[in-house]
Amino acid sequence: MVAAASAAGAQGPTPAVSWYPARPTQGSLIRLAVTWPEISGLDGTLAGERLHFERDSTGAFHAVGAVPVDADSSVTGNLWTDGGPDSARIAVPIAARRSRSESLRLGREYTEPPDSALAARIAAERREIGQAFARAHDGPRLWSLWFSPPRRAPITSDFGTRRVLNGATRSRHLGLDYDGNVGEPVRATNRGVVLLVGDFFYNGKCVYISHGAGLMTAYLHMSAVQVSVGDTVVRGQAIGAVGATGRVTGPHLHWSVHYGGITVDPMSLLSLRPLPSFDAEAPDDPRIW
Ligand SMILES: [Zn+2]
Repeated sequence: MVAAASAAGAQGPTPAVSWYPARPTQGSLIRLAVTWPEISGLDGTLAGERLHFERDSTGAFHAVGAVPVDADSSVTGNLWTDGGPDSARIAVPIAARRSRSESLRLGREYTEPPDSALAARIAAERREIGQAFARAHDGPRLWSLWFSPPRRAPITSDFGTRRVLNGATRSRHLGLDYDGNVGEPVRATNRGVVLLVGDFFYNGKCVYISHGAGLMTAYLHMSAVQVSVGDTVVRGQAIGAVGATGRVTGPHLHWSVHYGGITVDPMSLLSLRPLPSFDAEAPDDPRIW
């Protein structure tokens, strides 16, 4: 998909913006490419999250962006030139996500309204996680290879599945569940820095890794954690073990992917091509650990 963006205040040539996939699905990552002659740098946002553009050898700018799972028929963004007066708006058309529905039975402590002490704990944990998501924008991209799955195991629940909890409460499953027995290894899906290690009410023992430039992955419900905040991890490194901690019906790994505050389908990360400046060192993937 190539679109001439509507440019405002343009003094020089106007930008050509393209993205892949051409019509991204609700709750997925996309790749953006912008050709804008005569500019020296580019900044922007998509769906309210900062974009981190990198320039390739031809002068084109590339970035990863995210489409929220509840996005309407399109998401909009803004681009502006580094130090210049030019700016442009983009609108990316979105395809609806088809999602299955599944019923789950959970212990009462996870479905009854929490008492005030528990509500305070849950709120504090949400804040801590939200602060970690925001910090994913702080540093540059730390990865150069394709992302690799955190486990070699069957997927037992897809992203976006609608959930009926104990016949009533509805929620949406915003991650990918991998089958596993307690103690089996969980591996970092790419290079990054551990931003948060928690033992939370809903998420159980969990690790949040920032891959830089907005991207973050999280690994939930583990029985053990083998990394600490501040550690640099590499793709395939064991960071913990499958468990059944937090709100679960049994042992498994819940893996989630976030771009800033937007949670997306991990499958869209596994198929995300590394940015072009690294293509030379990341040929079509071995995807080995
Ligand atoms: Zn899950």
